[in-house]
Amino acid sequence: MIKPLILKVAIPAVPFFQLFEYLAPENDANLQAGIRLEVPFGKTSKVAFLIATSFDSIFPFEKLKPIKRIIDDVPLLAEIDLKLLSWVANYYHHPIGEVMSAAFPVALRQGKDAIIKKLPKISESETKTTQLICNEAQQNAIDKISETLGEFNVFVLDGVTGSGKTEVYMQLIQTVLDRQQQVLVLVPEITLTPQLQQRFQARFSTHIAISHSKLTDLQRKNAWILMQSGVCSLLLGTRSALFTPLPNIGLIILDEEHDSSFKQQEGFRFSARDVAVMRGKLASVPVVLGSATPSLESLYNVFLTRYQHLRLPERAGNALPPLVEIIDVRRQKLQAGLSLKLLEEITATLAKKEQVLLFLNRRGFAPTLICDDCGWVARCVHCDANLVIHRHKNLLRCHHCGTEHRLISNCIACQSSALASLGLGTERLELILTHLFPEKKVIRLDRDSTSKKGALNDFLAQIHTGDAHIILGTQLLAKGHHFPNVTLVAILDVDSGLFSTDFHSGEKLAQLIVQVSGRSGREKKQGKVLLQTRQPTHPLLTELLREGYAKFAKSELAMREMAFLPPFSYQALLRAHSEKEDLPPVFLQSVVNLAQGLNLQAVQILGPIPAPMARRAGQYRFQLLFQHESRAVLHKLLRELMPQISTLNMRQKVRWSLDVDPVDLY
Ligand code: ADP
Ligand code: ZN
Ligand code: ZN
Repeated sequence: MIKPLILKVAIPAVPFFQLFEYLAPENDANLQAGIRLEVPFGKTSKVAFLIATSFDSIFPFEKLKPIKRIIDDVPLLAEIDLKLLSWVANYYHHPIGEVMSAAFPVALRQGKDAIIKKLPKISESETKTTQLICNEAQQNAIDKISETLGEFNVFVLDGVTGSGKTEVYMQLIQTVLDRQQQVLVLVPEITLTPQLQQRFQARFSTHIAISHSKLTDLQRKNAWILMQSGVCSLLLGTRSALFTPLPNIGLIILDEEHDSSFKQQEGFRFSARDVAVMRGKLASVPVVLGSATPSLESLYNVFLTRYQHLRLPERAGNALPPLVEIIDVRRQKLQAGLSLKLLEEITATLAKKEQVLLFLNRRGFAPTLICDDCGWVARCVHCDANLVIHRHKNLLRCHHCGTEHRLISNCIACQSSALASLGLGTERLELILTHLFPEKKVIRLDRDSTSKKGALNDFLAQIHTGDAHIILGTQLLAKGHHFPNVTLVAILDVDSGLFSTDFHSGEKLAQLIVQVSGRSGREKKQGKVLLQTRQPTHPLLTELLREGYAKFAKSELAMREMAFLPPFSYQALLRAHSEKEDLPPVFLQSVVNLAQGLNLQAVQILGPIPAPMARRAGQYRFQLLFQHESRAVLHKLLRELMPQISTLNMRQKVRWSLDVDPVDLY
């Protein structure tokens, strides 16, 4: 008997680890991995991706159904793309169908044709900016990386802010474009794409495809096809652009590689940085990881000589590094969070017609509404969190679940009208600054003020034209932006970052301080950075200021080594949550029992313990941490464990997820 051909397919958004099997249509020889098919699924049909064909099935043939339709004549994914995706599914222990979803824009997941109606026009006439003459460090970086085009190598481009990393990227990109190859450039934040796009557009006479989650389905599909078909050579995007097929890939660049936005924090929790490195390896191309504050993982890889370290120690052109000073705010009268010294510096800077940037990582008017008579505090009923006061919108809002209430004027517990706003948020700071500096234009950049389309660009334009004098904002400000006339930068509350329980917090705070400082004095004028703290002798601050980020990173790594923490060990976090408080710990305990039956006792299992925020959006949250010094041992356990978890009876009563290499233990 002739055996029928079996099609092994992945079905997007279906949480199964294995492939599904269907019968191939008769006499169809043109079934290559990487095409899309329409298959019957329950009572409906779904778009599926062909992963492999075979003459063997684990099921009896008569049980298999034939597919409904072949969507693509030619594969949309090349073998190398499929290889990467299956590596990723394996590494993150994530269902292949969901991983495949991440690789396709929505329109293609829905089965729409993979064709593009209008090809982009490139206006050749525009005059382009020319390459700058590089300094020695820049030239060395360009030479070292150019030498290895066509081979896999990872470079950590460790350049202080303003050292001209972007110029290095652009010269490398030009070289790769000249070789008729494609380049993938990833940035951590959507807000950083426009400025890089502008700089690229001003330099290259090639179309630049853009891909991030704020674009329409059609725009994303077009960018994807332009790259996948090889029509276009330069792709700029956020982490979701990482899986775009690039048949002629020649170089991968990740800017601000330390940024935790490269790690997806829900669903399929991949690290775009780590996957980019694997992609470079499979494709035999160099990967450039750029940052002024490289992650400890990358620096450790440098130490192990897996990655090559390229330093740009000085600011490009004639820009000087900023002067950093600590302001001890103990026993000082602060005016709305601002010390006298800081107020004087702000006044002096404005008098010189230069701009001031104030950093406060807290949105809203104030973080707490408290009753002065009875002590009642406005809490979220769904989360272990206070409601934040948003005066502009007249709301109390939970920043964890989005719950909103009308702002009240009487205490809920005692009806007293003596309600006080405790603490300082950006909205309040804005109000106070407009009072203190009535002649000056104050602008606030945070998620609330920039939620309208185009708002951020308007603000950025006001900063560049000099219309804005004082710029205040949250971490939106910390990243990548280039503000030439800002000469004073202040971080109002450094201390909130010093006392977190997450072992990543020291690294994150140091990166934040250096990055925010980097916004100061980027051109001719020397900048100044002021840090307000009640911990002026905290070793993190003193070491960072005295010896710089590299030295800080070294001692932080030494501490991680002593404590057996990553990158000296590997972790995976199993999270579980439910509306019922007792279920998640019971579920996680049965996972512990399963794990103990697997004879891999060497893997440390911590928990079940409540998550740092034990209740969020009405869900009780618990977690289990797996840790081992060998990645292979940890993953062996996970590989055996995951299919068994799927058979636990309780799995349907709790929601659970696995986070491999977690960056936020929240
Ligand atoms: P980074 O990306 O490292 O923060 P940029 O590439 O944005 O730095 O460069 C900072 C500034 O220095 C920019 O205005 C850029 O045009 C300028 N610059 C970069 N390289 C040079 C160079 N070799 N000579 C003069 N100016 C340079
Ligand atoms: Zn009260
Ligand atoms: Zn809430």
